[in-house]
Amino acid sequence: MDFKHLQEKIRHLNEVIRPQYRLYTPREKEILTKTVKLNEEVGELCNDILAILKLQRKAKLDKFDKRNMYEEFADVIITAIQLATAAGVDIDRAVTDKLKKIEKRLDNHKKPVDTNETV
Ligand SMILES: [Mg+2]
Repeated sequence: MDFKHLQEKIRHLNEVIRPQYRLYTPREKEILTKTVKLNEEVGELCNDILAILKLQRKAKLDKFDKRNMYEEFADVIITAIQLATAAGVDIDRAVTDKLKKIEKRLDNHKKPVDTNETV
């Protein structure tokens, strides 16, 4: 099967199975846009991490500036906060609650095993 036939087959399948798309509200469009943007920024940060680990090809390594990684971390954090805002998420509450959950899990992990416990 060549790509032309594959594309036509998938187009036909899409017509049959796709959900009824509706027009998005401005808020939904902003959430979608910020979600895609966050993915882009994470990808850029990943490129910099690969460069630091010298896992990029030489042409990219030659152009790499370590200071750029700081900007990419900032881009990820800023875009995540923008997305949270658009989605109506209280980022302070989200992070605080998550840290408590992680700390609780670590506390439980540290507790000594009771060898007298019965099954
Ligand atoms: Mg960026």
